[in-house]
Amino acid sequence: MRIIKSPEEMSHWSREQLASGMDIGFVPTMGFFHEGHLSLMRMAAKLAEKVVVSIFINPIQFGTDEDLSEYPRDLNRDSSFAENENVDVLFVPELKSMYPEPIKTKISVSGLTKEFCGASRPGHFDGVCTVVTKLFNIVRPSVAVFGSKDFQQLAAIRRMVADLNIDIEIVAHPTVRENDGLAMSSRNTYLAEEDRQSALSLYKANNSAKDMVSAGYSETAAIIDKLEVLINSYDKVEIEYLAIVNCFDLQRQKNIDDNSLLIMAVKVGRTRLIDNFLLHGKTGDI
Ligand code: AMP
Repeated sequence: MRIIKSPEEMSHWSREQLASGMDIGFVPTMGFFHEGHLSLMRMAAKLAEKVVVSIFINPIQFGTDEDLSEYPRDLNRDSSFAENENVDVLFVPELKSMYPEPIKTKISVSGLTKEFCGASRPGHFDGVCTVVTKLFNIVRPSVAVFGSKDFQQLAAIRRMVADLNIDIEIVAHPTVRENDGLAMSSRNTYLAEEDRQSALSLYKANNSAKDMVSAGYSETAAIIDKLEVLINSYDKVEIEYLAIVNCFDLQRQKNIDDNSLLIMAVKVGRTRLIDNFLLHGKTGDI
Protein backbone atom coordinates (compact mmCIF):
# COMPACT_ATOMS: atom_id res chain seq x y z
CA MET A 1 0.00 0.00 0.00
CA ARG A 2 1.25 3.45 -0.88
CA ILE A 3 0.79 6.40 1.40
CA ILE A 4 0.50 9.57 -0.65
CA LYS A 5 0.57 12.97 0.98
CA SER A 6 0.48 15.37 -1.92
CA PRO A 7 -2.59 16.04 -4.09
CA GLU A 8 -0.34 16.32 -7.18
CA GLU A 9 1.17 12.90 -6.58
CA MET A 10 -2.29 11.48 -5.92
CA SER A 11 -3.62 12.91 -9.21
CA HIS A 12 -0.58 11.57 -11.03
CA TRP A 13 -1.12 8.06 -9.63
CA SER A 14 -4.81 8.16 -10.58
CA ARG A 15 -4.05 9.39 -14.11
CA GLU A 16 -1.66 6.46 -14.58
CA GLN A 17 -4.23 3.95 -13.34
CA LEU A 18 -6.94 5.34 -15.58
CA ALA A 19 -4.58 5.35 -18.56
CA SER A 20 -3.83 1.68 -18.00
CA GLY A 21 -7.55 0.86 -17.97
CA MET A 22 -8.07 0.53 -14.20
CA ASP A 23 -11.01 2.06 -12.40
CA ILE A 24 -10.83 3.52 -8.92
CA GLY A 25 -13.12 3.03 -5.92
CA PHE A 26 -12.86 5.74 -3.30
CA VAL A 27 -13.64 5.96 0.42
CA PRO A 28 -13.25 9.43 1.93
CA THR A 29 -12.79 9.41 5.73
CA MET A 30 -11.48 11.43 8.65
CA GLY A 31 -9.52 8.44 9.93
CA PHE A 32 -9.38 6.65 13.28
CA PHE A 33 -10.76 3.61 11.55
CA HIS A 34 -13.35 1.26 12.96
CA GLU A 35 -15.15 -1.69 11.40
CA GLY A 36 -17.57 0.72 9.64
CA HIS A 37 -14.72 2.30 7.66
CA LEU A 38 -13.20 -1.10 6.91
CA SER A 39 -16.51 -2.40 5.54
CA LEU A 40 -16.68 0.59 3.19
CA MET A 41 -13.16 -0.28 1.96
CA ARG A 42 -14.23 -3.90 1.32
CA MET A 43 -17.24 -2.71 -0.60
CA ALA A 44 -15.10 -0.36 -2.71
CA ALA A 45 -12.79 -3.29 -3.52
CA LYS A 46 -15.78 -5.22 -4.87
CA LEU A 47 -16.83 -2.31 -7.06
CA ALA A 48 -13.52 -1.24 -8.59
CA GLU A 49 -10.07 -2.58 -9.44
CA LYS A 50 -8.12 -0.10 -7.32
CA VAL A 51 -9.06 1.32 -3.94
CA VAL A 52 -8.08 4.73 -2.62
CA VAL A 53 -8.94 5.74 0.95
CA SER A 54 -8.41 9.29 2.09
CA ILE A 55 -7.88 10.55 5.62
CA PHE A 56 -8.42 14.26 5.96
CA ILE A 57 -9.82 16.05 8.97
CA ASN A 58 -11.38 18.90 7.09
CA PRO A 59 -11.37 22.09 9.15
CA ILE A 60 -13.98 23.89 7.04
CA GLN A 61 -16.67 21.41 8.07
CA PHE A 62 -16.15 22.01 11.81
CA GLY A 63 -17.82 24.85 13.70
CA THR A 64 -15.62 27.00 15.93
CA ASP A 65 -17.02 25.37 19.07
CA GLU A 66 -16.69 21.81 17.73
CA ASP A 67 -14.14 19.04 18.28
CA LEU A 68 -11.61 19.73 15.48
CA SER A 69 -8.60 19.83 17.81
CA GLU A 70 -9.56 16.76 19.85
CA TYR A 71 -10.77 14.59 16.95
CA PRO A 72 -8.92 11.24 17.38
CA ARG A 73 -5.91 10.72 15.10
CA ASP A 74 -3.57 7.73 14.70
CA LEU A 75 -1.98 7.34 11.29
CA ASN A 76 0.11 4.27 12.20
CA ARG A 77 -2.91 2.40 13.42
CA ASP A 78 -4.97 3.48 10.40
CA SER A 79 -2.29 2.50 7.89
CA SER A 80 -2.00 -1.02 9.26
CA PHE A 81 -5.80 -1.43 9.15
CA ALA A 82 -5.94 -0.14 5.56
CA GLU A 83 -3.02 -2.32 4.53
CA ASN A 84 -4.86 -5.38 5.87
CA GLU A 85 -7.82 -4.47 3.68
CA ASN A 86 -5.56 -4.41 0.59
CA VAL A 87 -6.12 -0.73 0.01
CA ASP A 88 -3.91 0.48 -2.86
CA VAL A 89 -3.41 4.05 -1.74
CA LEU A 90 -3.95 5.79 1.56
CA PHE A 91 -4.22 9.46 0.63
CA VAL A 92 -3.39 11.67 3.60
CA PRO A 93 -3.11 15.22 2.32
CA GLU A 94 -1.66 17.87 4.56
CA LEU A 95 -3.84 20.80 5.48
CA LYS A 96 -1.70 23.30 3.54
CA SER A 97 -1.80 21.24 0.39
CA MET A 98 -5.61 21.15 0.44
CA TYR A 99 -6.04 24.80 1.40
CA PRO A 100 -2.90 26.69 0.34
CA GLU A 101 -5.01 29.84 0.70
CA PRO A 102 -8.34 30.44 2.43
CA ILE A 103 -10.90 28.92 0.08
CA LYS A 104 -13.17 31.28 -1.84
CA THR A 105 -15.26 28.69 -3.64
CA LYS A 106 -17.79 26.59 -1.78
CA ILE A 107 -20.29 23.97 -2.84
CA SER A 108 -23.65 24.38 -1.18
CA VAL A 109 -26.60 22.00 -1.56
CA SER A 110 -29.63 24.02 -0.51
CA GLY A 111 -32.80 22.67 1.09
CA LEU A 112 -31.60 19.18 1.96
CA THR A 113 -28.92 20.51 4.29
CA LYS A 114 -31.00 23.13 6.09
CA GLU A 115 -32.61 21.14 8.90
CA PHE A 116 -31.40 18.46 11.28
CA CYS A 117 -27.58 18.27 11.43
CA GLY A 118 -27.46 21.31 9.14
CA ALA A 119 -29.40 23.40 11.66
CA SER A 120 -27.14 22.57 14.59
CA ARG A 121 -23.93 22.64 12.53
CA PRO A 122 -24.17 25.73 10.29
CA GLY A 123 -21.79 25.52 7.33
CA HIS A 124 -21.00 21.86 8.01
CA PHE A 125 -22.46 20.45 4.79
CA ASP A 126 -20.94 23.22 2.65
CA GLY A 127 -17.60 22.17 4.10
CA VAL A 128 -18.31 18.49 3.44
CA CYS A 129 -19.53 19.00 -0.13
CA THR A 130 -16.61 21.29 -0.93
CA VAL A 131 -13.94 18.91 0.34
CA VAL A 132 -15.61 15.88 -1.24
CA THR A 133 -15.62 17.70 -4.59
CA LYS A 134 -11.93 18.55 -4.17
CA LEU A 135 -11.13 14.94 -3.27
CA PHE A 136 -13.20 13.64 -6.21
CA ASN A 137 -11.25 15.91 -8.58
CA ILE A 138 -7.91 14.77 -7.17
CA VAL A 139 -8.65 11.03 -6.93
CA ARG A 140 -10.95 10.69 -9.98
CA PRO A 141 -12.84 7.60 -8.86
CA SER A 142 -15.60 5.93 -10.85
CA VAL A 143 -17.34 4.93 -7.63
CA ALA A 144 -17.31 6.32 -4.09
CA VAL A 145 -18.70 4.61 -0.99
CA PHE A 146 -20.40 6.49 1.86
CA GLY A 147 -22.01 5.21 5.06
CA SER A 148 -25.76 5.54 5.41
CA LYS A 149 -25.24 6.39 9.09
CA ASP A 150 -24.57 9.95 7.88
CA PHE A 151 -27.90 10.04 6.03
CA GLN A 152 -27.94 13.80 5.46
CA GLN A 153 -24.39 13.80 4.10
CA LEU A 154 -25.33 10.94 1.77
CA ALA A 155 -28.43 12.77 0.55
CA ALA A 156 -26.46 16.00 -0.03
CA ILE A 157 -23.67 14.24 -1.92
CA ARG A 158 -26.10 12.31 -4.10
CA ARG A 159 -27.85 15.54 -4.96
CA MET A 160 -24.58 17.41 -5.59
CA VAL A 161 -23.35 14.68 -7.94
CA ALA A 162 -26.65 14.76 -9.84
CA ASP A 163 -26.90 18.55 -9.98
CA LEU A 164 -23.30 19.05 -11.13
CA ASN A 165 -23.11 16.09 -13.54
CA ILE A 166 -20.25 14.57 -11.59
CA ASP A 167 -19.63 11.22 -13.26
CA ILE A 168 -19.13 9.16 -10.10
CA GLU A 169 -21.43 6.45 -8.79
CA ILE A 170 -22.34 7.03 -5.15
CA VAL A 171 -22.88 3.81 -3.23
CA ALA A 172 -24.33 3.65 0.29
CA HIS A 173 -23.08 1.15 2.84
CA PRO A 174 -25.35 0.08 5.72
CA THR A 175 -24.52 1.24 9.23
CA VAL A 176 -22.09 -1.06 11.00
CA ARG A 177 -22.90 -1.52 14.69
CA GLU A 178 -21.26 -2.79 17.85
CA ASN A 179 -22.66 -6.08 19.21
CA ASP A 180 -25.03 -4.16 21.46
CA GLY A 181 -26.40 -2.09 18.54
CA LEU A 182 -24.49 1.18 19.04
CA ALA A 183 -23.61 2.61 15.61
CA MET A 184 -19.83 2.64 15.27
CA SER A 185 -18.24 6.09 15.18
CA SER A 186 -14.76 7.47 15.72
CA ARG A 187 -16.44 9.83 18.18
CA ASN A 188 -17.54 6.89 20.38
CA THR A 189 -14.06 7.21 21.92
CA TYR A 190 -15.41 10.31 23.68
CA LEU A 191 -18.07 8.26 25.48
CA ALA A 192 -17.40 7.80 29.18
CA GLU A 193 -17.98 4.27 30.45
CA GLU A 194 -21.03 5.39 32.43
CA ASP A 195 -22.54 7.00 29.30
CA ARG A 196 -22.48 3.80 27.34
CA GLN A 197 -25.96 2.63 28.46
CA SER A 198 -27.43 6.00 27.53
CA ALA A 199 -25.75 5.82 24.13
CA LEU A 200 -27.83 2.72 23.46
CA SER A 201 -31.01 4.80 23.72
CA LEU A 202 -30.72 5.61 19.99
CA TYR A 203 -30.69 1.95 18.97
CA LYS A 204 -33.46 1.19 21.45
CA ALA A 205 -35.50 3.96 19.81
CA ASN A 206 -34.88 2.41 16.36
CA ASN A 207 -36.19 -0.94 17.55
CA SER A 208 -39.11 0.52 19.40
CA ALA A 209 -40.18 2.51 16.31
CA LYS A 210 -39.90 -0.60 14.17
CA ASP A 211 -42.09 -2.52 16.65
CA MET A 212 -44.67 0.27 16.67
CA VAL A 213 -44.84 0.30 12.89
CA SER A 214 -45.21 -3.49 12.83
CA ALA A 215 -48.01 -3.16 15.40
CA GLY A 216 -49.87 -0.86 13.02
CA TYR A 217 -48.98 2.66 14.24
CA SER A 218 -49.10 4.97 11.25
CA GLU A 219 -49.12 8.51 12.66
CA THR A 220 -45.56 9.69 12.97
CA ALA A 221 -46.42 12.19 15.75
CA ALA A 222 -47.61 9.37 18.02
CA ILE A 223 -44.44 7.38 17.38
CA ILE A 224 -42.17 10.36 17.97
CA ASP A 225 -43.93 11.15 21.28
CA LYS A 226 -43.27 7.64 22.57
CA LEU A 227 -39.66 7.64 21.39
CA GLU A 228 -39.03 10.96 23.10
CA VAL A 229 -40.20 9.48 26.39
CA LEU A 230 -38.05 6.39 25.83
CA ILE A 231 -34.86 8.32 25.05
CA ASN A 232 -35.41 10.82 27.85
CA SER A 233 -35.70 7.96 30.35
CA TYR A 234 -31.91 7.50 30.04
CA ASP A 235 -29.38 9.51 32.06
CA LYS A 236 -27.61 12.59 30.70
CA VAL A 237 -29.32 12.58 27.31
CA GLU A 238 -30.45 15.61 25.38
CA ILE A 239 -32.39 15.14 22.15
CA GLU A 240 -31.22 17.52 19.44
CA TYR A 241 -33.65 16.27 16.82
CA LEU A 242 -35.92 13.27 16.43
CA ALA A 243 -38.03 13.00 13.29
CA ILE A 244 -39.50 10.71 10.69
CA VAL A 245 -38.73 11.87 7.17
CA ASN A 246 -38.86 10.63 3.60
CA CYS A 247 -35.47 8.96 3.04
CA PHE A 248 -35.00 10.62 -0.37
CA ASP A 249 -35.97 14.28 0.12
CA LEU A 250 -35.74 14.39 3.96
CA GLN A 251 -39.17 16.02 4.20
CA ARG A 252 -40.99 15.35 7.48
CA GLN A 253 -43.83 12.87 7.16
CA LYS A 254 -47.25 12.80 8.84
CA ASN A 255 -47.85 9.13 8.11
CA ILE A 256 -45.60 6.13 7.74
CA ASP A 257 -44.93 4.80 4.25
CA ASP A 258 -42.30 2.59 2.60
CA ASN A 259 -39.73 5.42 2.58
CA SER A 260 -40.08 6.46 6.21
CA LEU A 261 -36.73 7.04 7.85
CA LEU A 262 -36.39 7.63 11.57
CA ILE A 263 -33.54 10.09 12.18
CA MET A 264 -32.07 11.35 15.41
CA ALA A 265 -29.23 13.26 17.01
CA VAL A 266 -28.82 12.88 20.76
CA LYS A 267 -26.21 14.34 23.05
CA VAL A 268 -25.02 11.86 25.66
CA GLY A 269 -22.95 13.75 28.16
CA ARG A 270 -20.71 15.80 25.87
CA THR A 271 -20.82 13.32 22.99
CA ARG A 272 -23.17 13.98 20.08
CA LEU A 273 -24.47 10.78 18.50
CA ILE A 274 -26.55 10.32 15.34
CA ASP A 275 -28.43 7.32 14.05
CA ASN A 276 -31.20 6.48 11.59
CA PHE A 277 -33.40 3.57 10.67
CA LEU A 278 -35.56 2.79 7.67
CA LEU A 279 -38.81 1.71 9.31
CA HIS A 280 -40.15 -0.57 6.59
CA GLY A 281 -36.87 -1.98 5.31
CA LYS A 282 -35.66 -5.48 6.08
CA THR A 283 -32.43 -4.26 7.68
CA GLY A 284 -33.28 -0.71 8.67
CA ASP A 285 -30.72 0.72 6.25
CA ILE A 286 -31.25 3.22 3.45
P1 AMP B 1 -15.86 9.64 9.00
O1 AMP B 1 -14.45 9.17 9.10
O2 AMP B 1 -16.61 9.58 10.28
O3 AMP B 1 -16.00 10.94 8.27
O4 AMP B 1 -16.61 8.57 8.09
C1 AMP B 1 -16.13 8.20 6.83
C2 AMP B 1 -17.18 7.37 6.13
O5 AMP B 1 -17.47 6.23 6.93
C3 AMP B 1 -18.50 8.12 5.92
O6 AMP B 1 -19.03 7.78 4.65
C4 AMP B 1 -19.36 7.60 7.03
O7 AMP B 1 -20.74 7.64 6.75
C5 AMP B 1 -18.88 6.16 7.12
N1 AMP B 1 -19.18 5.58 8.42
C6 AMP B 1 -18.95 6.13 9.64
N2 AMP B 1 -19.42 5.32 10.60
C7 AMP B 1 -19.97 4.25 9.98
C8 AMP B 1 -20.64 3.08 10.43
N3 AMP B 1 -20.84 2.83 11.71
N4 AMP B 1 -21.08 2.20 9.50
C9 AMP B 1 -20.90 2.44 8.18
N5 AMP B 1 -20.28 3.53 7.69
C10 AMP B 1 -19.83 4.42 8.58
